[in-house]
Amino acid sequence: MQLTDMINGVKKDVHHLALGAELGDAVLRLQGDALESELNRIAKAVLGTGDAAFVLAHASMPEKHDTVRQFVSPETFYMLSGKKNAYTDEDLTKLAFLAEMTEKLFSSRAKLDHRLHESLQAQLLQSQVLDQIHESVITMDLAGFILSWNAGAESLFGYTANEAIGQNILFLYENDAVDELRQFDLFLEQGGREMEVRRRKKSGEIFWASLSLSPLCDASSQEIGMIGYLSDITDRKLAEERINHLAYYDPLTDLPNRTLFKKLIDKALLQSQRDNTICSLLFIDLNRFKPINDTLGHQIGDKLLKQVAERFRLALRDNDVIARLGSDEFAIGLLGINQDFHAGLVAQKLLSTLDLAFSIDGHELRIGASIGVSVYPQDGIDADQLLQKADIAMCKAKREVERSSGSYAFYNQEMNRTIAGRLYLESGLRRALHHEEFFLQYQPKIDMKSGKIIGAEALIRWTHPKKGTISPTEFIPVAEETGLILHIDDWVLETTCAQARMWQESGVPAFRIAVNISAKEFTSALPERIRRALAFHQIPACWLELEITESMLMHSAEGVIGIMDEITGFGVTLALDDFGTGYSSLSYLKRFPIATLKIDRSFIQGIPQDTNDCAIASAIISMAKQLRHKVIAEGVESREQFDFLKQAGCDEVQGYLFSRPIDADKFSEMLKKDFHFTLS
Ligand code: C2E
Ligand code: CA
Ligand code: CA
Repeated sequence: MQLTDMINGVKKDVHHLALGAELGDAVLRLQGDALESELNRIAKAVLGTGDAAFVLAHASMPEKHDTVRQFVSPETFYMLSGKKNAYTDEDLTKLAFLAEMTEKLFSSRAKLDHRLHESLQAQLLQSQVLDQIHESVITMDLAGFILSWNAGAESLFGYTANEAIGQNILFLYENDAVDELRQFDLFLEQGGREMEVRRRKKSGEIFWASLSLSPLCDASSQEIGMIGYLSDITDRKLAEERINHLAYYDPLTDLPNRTLFKKLIDKALLQSQRDNTICSLLFIDLNRFKPINDTLGHQIGDKLLKQVAERFRLALRDNDVIARLGSDEFAIGLLGINQDFHAGLVAQKLLSTLDLAFSIDGHELRIGASIGVSVYPQDGIDADQLLQKADIAMCKAKREVERSSGSYAFYNQEMNRTIAGRLYLESGLRRALHHEEFFLQYQPKIDMKSGKIIGAEALIRWTHPKKGTISPTEFIPVAEETGLILHIDDWVLETTCAQARMWQESGVPAFRIAVNISAKEFTSALPERIRRALAFHQIPACWLELEITESMLMHSAEGVIGIMDEITGFGVTLALDDFGTGYSSLSYLKRFPIATLKIDRSFIQGIPQDTNDCAIASAIISMAKQLRHKVIAEGVESREQFDFLKQAGCDEVQGYLFSRPIDADKFSEMLKKDFHFTLS
């Protein structure tokens, strides 16, 4: 109830009293002697006699025998005296009424007083307390708009209350409010009371603050906002960071130490387990470090370690973890790698960073390393286990013949064999190029209707001096990973063009010879290489076709289209190899200048018994026709396959049914005879 309502209510109750309003005003406005004399005046006026009085807490009031009292409270009363028992009923009623009304008014005033007192008290207390506490206290509504801003907030943030009140709290955030809100949700979810946040001052300075929040409620306990208490903890944070750094980082190289490394790895392994990816740990021990340190001194040793750490760091990807475990030992965590043997490639890369000598204070220093590799999850499921296994593998690597830059070994024996096999292949490939161990075979492409040879695919062959013939499916992936593919593809292009030139000179009419292009080679440098090869061997571009795979289209469409346009621009045609195994839709393909689609062998194999394969093959053929691409089927081995494809409208075929890949001499003979394949 409002004050005025209360007064009005009281006024109504005493309406039949001439001075009722005055009574109310007196009680509500006056106190002490002033109140007493006013009520005295009212009593005398109401009762019409100077003998009426109001007595306020007069315990020692002299008694008269004819006095009548009406108590308002135990010590407060109206009284009438001096009429010598000649009081009328009206006098007594008026007296009683006065007392009753006054009592009501007194009790109303008491309640009001109490409330006023309380709220005044609260306001006073709030502003005093808030301004006195050193912390900054900010209240905001549920949408984050600032309602109050104390002196502490003014001095912490540099904004005055005037500047801050009415703004949204987000204006104090460091930068990414969305990020913080997410963090905040988490904080609430976890039932948190206090968190460490970063805030921005008016000066732009960013600082660390501890923030605790409590709900702001109205009189009916309804939540209407929040009260935030902030204090500057930048100093503590910096101290913490310093301690943290000392505890977790190697002071010499500034790399994580063993403790942090294990923490980081264990965390990454959890993620890896969720994502089902492979992780690998490398344990690296430098070779010949000790003698350098002993003979040239620790200062040089330290500088060397720093430079080694830097070379390693530069050779790694951003999300790999590198640590210094102790003296000349380092550890590296490769997180989320595709295949376990990739760790071997990284080890090799790290070793090659040591190929170049270090130059320190005028000394040319050479150093090597032994690297042990363990793989998660097969060798261990936590950082400790994996480190231990990598350490064992490192010892194994150390025992091996020490190459100048060092060696590496997997913990797992089988991995070592695979790697050894790969290494064997790799070194073999390097040699093969110089020792002419490669040669090409050609497999005819045949026109479906006429049976005439209308093209050929050049396929590389490798005769290894010890292992004999090695299939391209085995060595091409190794060549791609090591980058040797560029030299190999170059060789194939040159050899094919040279062969085309010979056929042209011997009078064979022009036909297309297809060369397989690996993804690695499909760069902006390719058009120029092709143009040069054609020019060098003086053959028209219509002799050459490039077979590319679908995965090449997936990179950046615009870049790829540009390269393709350049190539097709001078008359070389493109065929899309292994079609159907990728993800591109036919309409997507329309954007690329591709002349021919080559249906992958895996779909041809199932024809005619596998209805699925049949459906896919005929769908590819009919849709390709609509888009005006030619279609060739590879790997055709049977009459049934041929019949099915012919009926489906396929343009060309290639496969053992007609011919295996054959040497150039044999192919020349067929061409000379203008050989036509006929199927009886
Ligand atoms: P690809 O491009 O899909 O080549 C077709 C493969 O299918 C060839 O195997 C060929 O010999 C084989 N083939 C042809 N007709 C039949 C048949 O009727 N039945 C069966 N079962 N197979 C048939 P190859 O020569 O072993 O080549 C394998 C892969 O190696 C090629 O697949 C290609 O991706 C790659 N490759 C071959 N030569 C080169 C090359 O010079 N450069 C590059 N970058 N890759 C090459
Ligand atoms: Ca091919
Ligand atoms: Ca193919």
